[in-house]
Amino acid sequence: MAAWKKELGWTLLLLMGVALIGSIIGLFIPLLFLLIIGMLVWQVIQINRFERWISKGGRGKYPKAKGIWEDIYYHVYQIKKSEKKRKKKLGKIIDQFRKSTDALPDAAVVLGEEDEIEWANTAAKNVLGLQPSDRGQRIPNLIRFPIFVRYLKSGNFNETIIMPSPTNSHIILAVRVVSYGAGLRLLLAQDVTQLRKMEQMRKDFVANVSHELRTPLTVLKGYLETLQELDEPLSPLLSHSFQQMQEQTERMQYLVDDLLLLSNLETQPKKTHCVDLPALLIKICKESENLLHSAGRIELTLETNAHIVGDEQELRSAFSNLLGNALKYSPKESKVQVCWHQTPANLVLDIIDMGEGIAESEIPRITERFYRIDVRRINKVAGTGLGLAIVKHVLLRHDARLVITSELYKGSTFSCHFPVERLC
Ligand code: ADP
Repeated sequence: MAAWKKELGWTLLLLMGVALIGSIIGLFIPLLFLLIIGMLVWQVIQINRFERWISKGGRGKYPKAKGIWEDIYYHVYQIKKSEKKRKKKLGKIIDQFRKSTDALPDAAVVLGEEDEIEWANTAAKNVLGLQPSDRGQRIPNLIRFPIFVRYLKSGNFNETIIMPSPTNSHIILAVRVVSYGAGLRLLLAQDVTQLRKMEQMRKDFVANVSHELRTPLTVLKGYLETLQELDEPLSPLLSHSFQQMQEQTERMQYLVDDLLLLSNLETQPKKTHCVDLPALLIKICKESENLLHSAGRIELTLETNAHIVGDEQELRSAFSNLLGNALKYSPKESKVQVCWHQTPANLVLDIIDMGEGIAESEIPRITERFYRIDVRRINKVAGTGLGLAIVKHVLLRHDARLVITSELYKGSTFSCHFPVERLC
């Protein structure tokens, strides 16, 4: 039977007993009054005992009680017991989490809404120089690199920043912030010194090899030209061989030139001037038409006279590559439109051809180094596969983006979007 029913039963029995005795001895009202007072006092005593037990945290076994109070003590005791178990389990999980984050080689720091340090793992001490006593301090007051302070302030955490370690300037860190929960952020700092070293070695190697190949190639080309200009007539076999050798050395020369250009884009500091883009485009269009024997194919529209801040040489390479591709990968008699115009947020150069187009699946890949579509066609159209990689790099150095839209067998549009902040 439920405890409250039992309690009610006992109370009713007592009332009936007192009522019976009271009416026999003629003291019904006083006896009833006495009973109610007695019951009230008993309940107050029970409440008091319960309050004392619970105020001490309800620790240990509960005091002995009768009736419904025994049930109340029992239930509260059970709740406390399972809560204790849960706490113990949670403590274990937190302990394991702490141990695993402490074993991480990367620094992890939890930041509050005001960039104050809420928690940091052991690596944060070695890599970022944070001490346990720094908890609660604002991290930009402790790590003062301008790039880091700007990154935190910007609130744009899509990218990773590279900065030296505050404890050792020879260590290079890749720092990233991840937002989570209500206003909380996790700052992760990874030691990328080795990766950076290898990347630098790769860049140096490509630059050195390309540079060293230039001289032998020039010598080879010179001899081949001299041999072909000899007065004595050459046998058809020799003549064909010389022609092949000349074509291949020329191809190698383009490759070396493109590789050198790419490595310069990766290593050289940016040089910026105010570039007269309309004038540059007029020049490039003429040059491309001459170079690729495509007179009259390019239609240039200058909707704006906007000049932009940039490196003329780099922009010339990028636009020449895009124009060269538009002419190369479309039928000989088709038109190529070049349009320089302005939108509210961007200055845009569109290069539109009516050529073979690019399949949607290939578009993300064509800006990769050495990536060329359809090997069978490559033999017909000369190229290094480095042109669009150069375009991508140049645009990156000008805070611009390349947008490619294309439809197979209909044509392609390559658009360079420069931010209006580049206007000059
Ligand atoms: P390359 O032209 O030297 O092969 P790029 O990096 O300039 O190298 O271009 C990569 C590939 O993208 C090309 O091989 C070609 O298949 C494709 N491509 C580039 N521009 C166009 C275009 N306008 N139309 C069709 N395909 C193109």
